[in-house]
Amino acid sequence: MYKSTRGGIRPVSFEQSVLMGLADDGGLLVPVEIPDVSGRLDTWQKLSYPELALEVMNLFIDNDISAAELQPLLEKSYSSFETSEITPLVKTDSLYLLELFHGPTLAFKDIALQFLGNLFEHLLEKTGSTLNIVGATSGDTGSAAIYGVRGKKNINIFIMYPEGRVSPIQKQQMTTVNESNVHNIAVEGTFDDTQRLLKELFNDLQFKQQYNLAAVNSVNWARVLAQIVYYFYAYFRIREQTGSDKVSFCVPTGNFGNIFAGYMAYRMGLPVEKLILASNENDILARFFQTGDYIKGDVRATYSPSMDIQAASNFERYLYYLCGEKTDEVNRLMKELSQKGYIRIEDKDPVFDAGQANNEETLSTINDYYKSFNYLLDPHTAVAVKVAREKKKESDAPLVCLATAHPAKFPEAIRAATGKDIARHPTIDKIMHLRSRCTLLPPDIIYISDFIADRIATLKDR
Ligand SMILES: *Cc1c(COP(=O)(O)O)cnc(C)c1O
Repeated sequence: MYKSTRGGIRPVSFEQSVLMGLADDGGLLVPVEIPDVSGRLDTWQKLSYPELALEVMNLFIDNDISAAELQPLLEKSYSSFETSEITPLVKTDSLYLLELFHGPTLAFKDIALQFLGNLFEHLLEKTGSTLNIVGATSGDTGSAAIYGVRGKKNINIFIMYPEGRVSPIQKQQMTTVNESNVHNIAVEGTFDDTQRLLKELFNDLQFKQQYNLAAVNSVNWARVLAQIVYYFYAYFRIREQTGSDKVSFCVPTGNFGNIFAGYMAYRMGLPVEKLILASNENDILARFFQTGDYIKGDVRATYSPSMDIQAASNFERYLYYLCGEKTDEVNRLMKELSQKGYIRIEDKDPVFDAGQANNEETLSTINDYYKSFNYLLDPHTAVAVKVAREKKKESDAPLVCLATAHPAKFPEAIRAATGKDIARHPTIDKIMHLRSRCTLLPPDIIYISDFIADRIATLKDR
């Protein structure tokens, strides 16, 4: 069962938690209990990625979906990856890189969103209803969500992105998908405008219910759940390759979704020595783990745009555990944060460490890694590698950096770092010349809700 970090709802099932997204009291859903798997690690050592996913995820899903139903969903979700290992571990220098970018859109978000698409489809087959997914994106989430549900029966997806503010590749990825259930809305505004519009849509409870709206952003528990798996997978590969019984992770962080999944794995009993949070110049979270002060600032544009975030939506889940699972305390802190714009917390879970990389350091890390190891880091991964190289000295455990995107998604940064056009991938080459399809709308809720209602009506008529 799942409860809200703010304690304002009755516990819900896994299925309800997936459809609810954000808890109805404004909090985030967390499992009422975290299973302890420390006694099972030996039996899981040799499992393939989908087999391991079944073992880990089944612990959190209970009777809603049987293991026999979950297994084919996982097989299907990971069959779209270009390597059978799904998340291969490679060694460079004294660091390991866990490559999470072998899915259809070349970013780690595919790992959760390929699964979420199949999960939604499965839940809808049971109920016979239609779901309308609405999302706002600054780039990577939109394409991964679209690829997760393209062509699926009984699901429509509407993705809002800020016109002119996503990269040309990200735009092509979203807008060249031809299936009739995919709808791209180019909003004449900023990413903040699209997030505000999304909130307004979901706050209109009548509209939300009438059109059965669902969310795919990273607060959805199913996304965290799917991401827990690769922390275990990496640990088993490290144990195989080095014999070490401990592992540390360095995670390039934006919304705190990825690293929070690692924290869950740790609380389940995975022998994690350190979880190192890596920020770009938007380093509110790194500073929090370094000083205890959580102070919101303005968002800066960097070479790692998927981490250009100052309000990490999954942070509240960590606060919940930091407060000893006391929901009253979470409520108090969240209120204080919204009133004052900052909070201060002396405590920290000692498993966490943090560091940051600025734009210049990001580029020099890419260039140095390319020259030294002939390995191209994408700018997000480079932020983690820069931080990991500094922290390596402090820990004996093998250190795994999560590689969250393929460099071909960010050719401008690679060119700026190396002076060369060497970031290529056939998946990207294939879509660059395809015709793009989107609807340009003003940043006003009236236009957005009318457009969604119209599209749904047209689809029903067919
Ligand atoms: C989304 C994203 C991140 C940040 O992950 P969070 O879960 O938001 O912390 C890092 N790198 C890439 C490439 C991403 O797409």
